[in-house]
Amino acid sequence: MEIIYGPVSSWRLGRSLGIDLICKEEGKVCSFDCIYCSLGRTTEKTLERKLYVPTDLMEEDLRKTLKEVDADIITFSGTGEPTLALNLGEAIMAVRKITDLPVAVLTNSTLMVREDVRRELAKADVIKGKLDAPNGEVLEAVNRPHQGVGFEELVKGMKLFRKGYRGKFSIEVMFVPQNVRYAGRIAEVIKEIGPDEVQINTPTRPSPVGPLTPKQIEEIEENFKTMNFISVYRAERVRIEKIVGGKKVGRLKRREGGGSRS
Ligand code: SF4
Repeated sequence: MEIIYGPVSSWRLGRSLGIDLICKEEGKVCSFDCIYCSLGRTTEKTLERKLYVPTDLMEEDLRKTLKEVDADIITFSGTGEPTLALNLGEAIMAVRKITDLPVAVLTNSTLMVREDVRRELAKADVIKGKLDAPNGEVLEAVNRPHQGVGFEELVKGMKLFRKGYRGKFSIEVMFVPQNVRYAGRIAEVIKEIGPDEVQINTPTRPSPVGPLTPKQIEEIEENFKTMNFISVYRAERVRIEKIVGGKKVGRLKRREGGGSRS
């Protein structure tokens, strides 16, 4: 079981050492089934939080790995939605005991409406949420959510989280042909949420959905210019010397390296 993997070079986070608290060998566990997901179709679409990887196993692997590789940040991501791991809060605190490196969580934001999840996410230094739609119809078309996820609830959760969170909260928008014409309306919703940063992205590595062109992304940027944003084609990448968990890095690269995931 590859719990720790990387670091991967992330245009958003630098050398990001990943922690996978779900660890699915095949497929993934997620509350979304995004049309552009680099991990393929969601094999377990759920909103139920469960224990997948015991915290002590993660701790042991992380201690070992940090002796072998250099990283700038520890990032909870992996083969599914990290907030579905029941021990996420406990695992973040365990990381804090082991290292002073900042801790990030990449989430699709669907569980932010839950108080327990917001409390656990608040333990991290950086939270990157996701919003690819300005309404329920586009959410259905792009993210194919679990039937228990509604657009209003999703946005409500993000606003509640923003209100109580002191760390850096960024929201990524993955632009694909299916939502490109909604850029203006997506920007309006994000402005109401008020993140510290917006990350304008498009699947730049192999994905079931092709990327938008640099020109299209440039046009999209116009809608976000009153906010602090970074954009996929303008981002710089860092060089990685040595990695662990190579198999998983190959599988997840697109997800954290500027491709197609929360
Ligand atoms: S891109 Fe992220 S949120 Fe979407 S299905 Fe894949 S893992 Fe889930």
